[in-house]
Order: sequence, then C-alpha cells, then structure tokens
Amino acid sequence: MIIAIDGPSGAGKSTLGKMLAKNLNLLYLDTGAMYRAVGFAVLDKGVGFEDTARIAEIAENARIELVGEPEHLQIFLDGADVSLAIRTNEVGQAASRVSTISEVRRILVEHQRALGATAPNGAVLDGRDIGSVVFPNADIKFFLTAKPEARARRRYEEDLEKGRAVSYEQTFAEIKERDERDVSRSDSPLMIAEDAVVIDTSELDLSEVFAQMIAIVDEKRAKATAGLT
Ligand code: C5P
Repeated sequence: MIIAIDGPSGAGKSTLGKMLAKNLNLLYLDTGAMYRAVGFAVLDKGVGFEDTARIAEIAENARIELVGEPEHLQIFLDGADVSLAIRTNEVGQAASRVSTISEVRRILVEHQRALGATAPNGAVLDGRDIGSVVFPNADIKFFLTAKPEARARRRYEEDLEKGRAVSYEQTFAEIKERDERDVSRSDSPLMIAEDAVVIDTSELDLSEVFAQMIAIVDEKRAKATAGLT
C-alpha cells in the first residue's frame, strides 16, 4: 500500500504521516528531509544556488539514508547524522531552492520510488509531489492544508520548543516565501492531485485529522477486500 501525503509546510504532514505509518506498520518516508539534506550539503560546500550543474552532482553523489522507526526517524548524509542540522530555516530555504532544479528532482524521485516500492508492507510518503509525480497510482492520496497563519504558528511553536531562536513574523515570512516557490516552480509544483482527499487542518487537532485519515484508509481497504472476494 502506498499512501501519499502532500501539502504546504506546517500543515501537519510529517506528524500525521508518522502516526499513519506506525499505526499501519508501513515505512515512513520524509521526502522533504531528502531535499533538506541536499540543501544542507550545498550550504556546507559553499556552492552558489546558480551553479545547478554542481548541485545536481552533489545530489547524485549524496548518500541519504532515513533510519529508524517513524517517530524517531534519523537522517544521515554520507554517514553523518544531520537530523537536527537540516531543520533550520536556512536549510529549509536551501531545500526549496535546490528543489526547483529538475535534475535534483529526478535523482531524488528515483530514490523515493525505489524505497517505496521495496518496502515490505508499503509506505507513507510525505512531500509536495507524491500523488502527482512520485506515485501517481498511490492507493490513497491526501492533501493536507491549513491557513498560512495556522501553519506559521505551529512551526513557530515547534521551533520555540526545540530551542531555536526565531520570531513569529520571521517564520510567517519564511513559510510564505517557500510556499510561493513551491507552487510556482515549473517542475512538479505543489498541486492538489485530482483524486486527492483534501483536509484543511486549520481548526482541527491532530487526533481529529488522524481519525479522518484512518477512516478513509479503512474504507479503501474494505473496498479492496470486497473487490477480491
Ligand atoms: O517538507 P519540508 O518542509 O521539510 O520540505 C523542504 C522543502 O523541500 C520544501 O519547501 C519543498 O521546496 C521541497 N520539497 C519538494 N518536494 C518534496 C518534498 C519537499 O520540492 N516532495
């Protein structure tokens, strides 16, 4: 079973993706973490964002590994644990810039398809182009969204909790900038797949959204089983 979760940043994709994966015993793939790992490598090597050939080469050679259970997922880049280092706003912006480069997308999409296709029970993937490009035939597609203010508030509270020094205004501006880049890029822009279930999480708490998602998964499974008998 492949479950796609797309949507803008701060809509709850990763928290809910992890909860679903755990509940259904599926692999959880945080595809944003892969773009962040490439963004991190680009910053680390001091490469300019205009040098797309060099960035594609970095993506091609980067060994990105997602290790562990969904709620304790660790991200390794060339053997080094970058789980925390990739969560800064600076790396988020770098990820959003490198994600506009088609060659980078091609390399990471190939990696994501291979991981999803070989997962023993299937996978939950969260990102921007999962239902539209990576797995257009996914069994279930969710598009999670929320008002920009609600998304910025959540991200801000998460950053405060983790001890990162940011202001709400800065977080709001950063989210808006990334959203704009994600919807306007020419290759695989953020969009709602035709057959996606759209959930606006602005006024809902996690358990309410989770209940809605699980109900849809159960319904889908029941239909698939009925179709087999
Ligand atoms: O999901 P997260 O905010 O960690 O993703 C970081 C950035 O990576 C996004 O702003 C987006 O530009 C890019 N991304 C993407 N396609 C994906 C996942 C993330 O372009 N499937």
